Formats: sequence, structure tokens, C-alpha cells
Amino acid sequence: MNVQGRKIAAGIRYPFETPPAEGEAITVAPGVLWMRLPLPMKLDHVNVYAFDDGESWTIVDTGFDTKRTREIWRDLMAGPLEDKPVARLLVTHHHPDHVGLAGWFQTEFGTELITTRTAWLSARMLTLDNQELPTEENLTFWRQAGMEAATYTKRSQERPFNFADIVTPMPVGYTRIQEGDTLEIGGRMWDVRIGNGHAPEHACLFSRDDELVIGGDQLLPSISPNIGVYATEPMADPLGEWLEACERLSAYARADQFILGGHKLPYTGLPTRLKQLIKNHHSGLERLLEFLETPKTAHECFPPLYKRTIGEGEYGLALVEAIAHVNHLYLAGKVTRSARENDAWEYCVKENFDGREN
Ligand SMILES: [Zn+2]
Repeated sequence: MNVQGRKIAAGIRYPFETPPAEGEAITVAPGVLWMRLPLPMKLDHVNVYAFDDGESWTIVDTGFDTKRTREIWRDLMAGPLEDKPVARLLVTHHHPDHVGLAGWFQTEFGTELITTRTAWLSARMLTLDNQELPTEENLTFWRQAGMEAATYTKRSQERPFNFADIVTPMPVGYTRIQEGDTLEIGGRMWDVRIGNGHAPEHACLFSRDDELVIGGDQLLPSISPNIGVYATEPMADPLGEWLEACERLSAYARADQFILGGHKLPYTGLPTRLKQLIKNHHSGLERLLEFLETPKTAHECFPPLYKRTIGEGEYGLALVEAIAHVNHLYLAGKVTRSARENDAWEYCVKENFDGREN
């Protein structure tokens, strides 16, 4: 990391600077293995962990369901996991890079799936929801967001991303965890704390017996988790839920905790990190409010939010995050919205509002 990067990351430390190679594991705490699986995207990996329960393992998250990922898992099981059974799988949240192989572990190895109710219901619902073309509701949602005509025409004729493409079918049955539960994993007692905003009812686990925290994507270092609105709930305010969760989880954060996150490197400095995550979005909202002195669609709000050019590969994530920001301001009563041609909503700062975001 360069000097500038170190300054920005003040208060955040990465005790392990080199991630595990494919098929290998790094012991990050007694009985705790850190492993990585590849993702075919800009964010090219997901972290997974294994906790030694004596006779068996509890693993955390799974990666996508691809042939390659299954092969890597088989190598890991025969290698660092020493052929001991994977008795339990804790899934932090319902996104495919975390839940992708849950059904495979359940059916192939008899693994018990432990997750939150919303994570399980969302994942199972989405694996059953196969679409050959975007639904009418999705098309409407894109038009309302002001998606450009060329992109809209192209996407409306293409088979959309289907959750089931990269997530194994999920059998009926799981074990629920919820806020305030305790759980024994890897010889430690853990408190379950619930995050929100990146994914609804995202599980975070705080060890009572040492400094470990299982952070999933709620508590990531160095990258800000995507906060998105989807056609399933067009008026959702995930940004409001994200900010609420960051504030609430700050009460459990200590500088000495060692955070095992879903991406990037495990780190210490959670209180600083939570402050950064909160501040980043408040700054984004301030810039957006200034920008909305003149009416704009969600699609037109990329410049103040991202301050860089958004490529085609990131467009989908950028759009759902822009909608999350305008929704947050709209639901907080700071901007109004009115319909432009082609159903697009355009947002504008309220006349009597002084432009300050708080
Ligand atoms: Zn993730």
C-alpha cells in the first residue's frame, strides 16, 4: 500500500497481507482457516472460513455454484480440511457468492445450513424464480430509473441474470438464527447481531471468547458494499437501513477485534471502519443533493455519486445504488419526484429545503 493509502486507512490494520492461494488455507486464529474462492467479476474473489469443531468443521459462506468452485472445495476438503466432515454451514447473507453452494453442501454432504430467515427465504425464492426475459415489472423499474434507451433495448431482449445460474437448488429446511442468539462455533461462543442494507437480515457474529468477528459483507474493509434497490421492492430504503445498522453495530465494535469479512483482507479497526462507511454515504448524499438543484433521473446521478466513469460491467450495480440514494432522499422528504417522458422519475431538491443533508 502506498503512503497515501496508509493515511486514508489510518486505524485499520491488516495482520495478514497475502491472501491464501487457490486450494490453500491460512490459519488466522487457533482452529480458524481462511480460504478464498474465485469470482468471475471485477471483485474477483470471496472469502470463506472453516472453524474446527473437533470431529467436524463449521464453514462460513460458499462461493458461486460453478464446476470450478466445487472442485476447489473438494480439494480444500481433502487438503486443509483433512477429510473431516463439514457438519455445519453458516451463510451470512443471501447473495450468490455467499449462498451459492449451500444446497450442494446440504444434499451432497448432509451439512446443516444455518442462516437468518430472510436470507434463507430470499435465496430459496430467487432460485425458484427463473426468467427467460426480463419481467414487465423489471422493465418498468428500469424505465422509471431513466435507463438509457440503447441499454434498455438491449437488456429487454436478453436473458437476464438468473440466481439459479450460479446457486444450487436449495432443499427445504434450515436452522434459523436471529438477533441476540448465541451459537457455539469453533470452541467459541458467539453473539448474533443483524445487519441490513447490503442484504436484508445479514448475520454478523461476535465472539465472546476472543477478538474474532464474522463480518460477511456488512463489515468490509476498503470497499463499500453495494446498497441496491430492486424491482422486487421499488420503494425500499436500503441506504437508511444500512446507516441504521452501521450506527447500531458500532456499539459492539472495538479496535482490537479481528474482522473476518466476505471480501478483501481480514482487519482490525472496526470502530474506524464503521465511521468511514457511515461518512462515505453521508458525503455522497450531500453531493447528490447539490446535484439535484436541477431535476435528474437516477441514471443521471452517477457523476456526483461515483466521480468516475461507470463501465458496462458495473452499470447494473451502479444503477441500483443510485436508486437507493434517490429513494433515501425522497423518503426523507428532501427531494420531490415527478414523471418525465417514458415513465422516468426525475428528482429535485425541495424548494424550501436548505440543501443540507443530515
Ligand atoms: Zn459478497
